[in-house]
Amino acid sequence: MINYLGKFLPDLSSVMYPINSLLKRDTAWTWGVPQEVAFKEVKVMLTSTPVLAYYDANKPTVVSADASSFGLGAALYQEYEEGLRPVAYCSRTLTETERRYSQIEKECLASVWACERFSRYLQGMEKFRLQTDHKPLVPLINSYDLDKAPVRCQRLLMRLMKFNAEACHVPGKQLIVADTLSRKPLPDGGGSSTEEVVTAYVQAVVESRPITRDRLDAFRQATMQDGDLQTITKYVADGWPEESSHLSHTLQSFHAARAHLSAADGLLLYDDRIVVPELLRKQVLSQIHEGHQGLTKCRLRANLSVWWPGIGRHITEVVKSCRFCQENKSSQRKEPLMPTPLPDGPGQKLAADICDHDGKHYLVVVDYFSRDIEIVHLRSMTSLHVIAHLKTIFARWGIPFELITDNGTQFTSADFKQFSVAYNFKHTTSSPHFPQSIGAAERSVAIAKRILCQPDPHLALLSYRATPHTATGSSPAQLMMGRQVRTTVPVLSKHLVPSQKDYSTVRNADRKAKASYSYFYNRRHSVRQLSPLQSGQRVRVKLDGVKGWKTSGKVVVHAPEPRSYYVKTEDGFIARRNRRHIQQVPEQTLTAPSEVPVIATPGAAGDPEAIPVQSSTRPVATDSPPGCPGFMTQRTLAGRVVKPPIRFKDYVTI
Ligand SMILES: [Zn+2]
Repeated sequence: MINYLGKFLPDLSSVMYPINSLLKRDTAWTWGVPQEVAFKEVKVMLTSTPVLAYYDANKPTVVSADASSFGLGAALYQEYEEGLRPVAYCSRTLTETERRYSQIEKECLASVWACERFSRYLQGMEKFRLQTDHKPLVPLINSYDLDKAPVRCQRLLMRLMKFNAEACHVPGKQLIVADTLSRKPLPDGGGSSTEEVVTAYVQAVVESRPITRDRLDAFRQATMQDGDLQTITKYVADGWPEESSHLSHTLQSFHAARAHLSAADGLLLYDDRIVVPELLRKQVLSQIHEGHQGLTKCRLRANLSVWWPGIGRHITEVVKSCRFCQENKSSQRKEPLMPTPLPDGPGQKLAADICDHDGKHYLVVVDYFSRDIEIVHLRSMTSLHVIAHLKTIFARWGIPFELITDNGTQFTSADFKQFSVAYNFKHTTSSPHFPQSIGAAERSVAIAKRILCQPDPHLALLSYRATPHTATGSSPAQLMMGRQVRTTVPVLSKHLVPSQKDYSTVRNADRKAKASYSYFYNRRHSVRQLSPLQSGQRVRVKLDGVKGWKTSGKVVVHAPEPRSYYVKTEDGFIARRNRRHIQQVPEQTLTAPSEVPVIATPGAAGDPEAIPVQSSTRPVATDSPPGCPGFMTQRTLAGRVVKPPIRFKDYVTI
């Protein structure tokens, strides 16, 4: 300290001579009268002018504070041309209670106490620097975010708020004066009014936790018995080891959080949260998850009162593996729209649906290319009746390559299967309860209903067919027949003669319209792509008439339709569901690999387990239409499953 301030002391070496001479080699150590006189004289010199400067309110001011294990020391400096000159010093001994503070709390106390001791110089000052050699303290003082500070520091920092201190870190070696003073503190440095306040605050914080007194006692007892927490408490009081590499894994995680830890009232605290001993963590976790709130809410709840290393991860595990939460999870978000590619021409791909209007049933058929619709009154709802009407439509426009329907009984009957085989077209059904996948049919039903409720439905249908469709820019009649049809609106006779239609214009217009529709759809529903599922994966599914995700099962195989899977439930029932109605079960509950059924692959062809759905009513694909290579070859006759290329992902819009 003398060397540090020596530049302000004239004639220092002659005063110090009796003491310095003791340092010479060959000199016996004798502390006699000359040395005692010199020592006292130096002390007087240090505490008077010219070392001590007069306080100047206009000069930049620096407070330097430090804590040792038993005392506090501080100095007030002002900046002069020749460097920092001391204006005042102070020191005091720590009380018994304060000695048990953690290092950061002692340092925080030193800073606050120093500012309060020098308050007559500092109060009202626009800004002054506060030097500390404890790095973790700097952000706490500068951020004003009290929630992020250990509980005692919170109370101390509140007292610091009346000052405009800006903390900065100074290595311990350079904090000489404050450090020296803290090592030889005055026996009474003005008492400690802070101690009572801080103790009362800590008490209030601990008791304001949403925990009963009995529980607090249980926490104290468990903390006492927890070996790791006892070690941590010791570290908190006596200082942490610099290096954490030799500590156990658990202690290392505490070491990383050491700036937040403090001990109070038999408990270990992380900021103002109680550190839960290992013994009680399971119980606390289940209490956090009481009421089965989601992950975010559980975390927020924990943040209010408890902490231990890895608590966030533990909460995630508990929430994700909770059976009740899995069963009652809300619906999954919609997936991004998959626009349907436009078929090569009219009459190649149709969708059919049955609708009710005014107590009557109607069969509505829509062409994916032209958007032309056919509306037929059904006198009977039998499959044969529906087939008869479809035959009439096919007779007029030709047999399509593919017909898409829902899972209505008329379409899933054996008769219908025979019909599809005899007429050689692919019949695709939508995922049950997922009408979105036959969006074309759904929309044409809406159009049909609007047409049917008009006074002259025939004229209304004719106008629909004669009006250009917004997506293609051409009317359904133009695309179906290559010419306009005559309506009540006057038309030049040359338009009624068939002419070559440029399909590429139609195709471009359609692509743009679909892209724009998908964009707005995805934005409106904040869609999310769900991850694909693997065969054998444990899942929960939504079944008919069952609320929530009560049924668990396993993925059997990817169905030919996009985002559609066959799932075998626990009762052995095989259901096809859209991905949106299948929820993954977290990994830790996955079955052992040996239980996973073999997926049908070229190498495993013929394995009966591999194709458990082949015996279902689904037709086996037979042929590929031109222009749709590979589209119908998802399952070969040998049972091989071939995934269609991604570009053939299916229809949702037209
Ligand atoms: Zn739950």
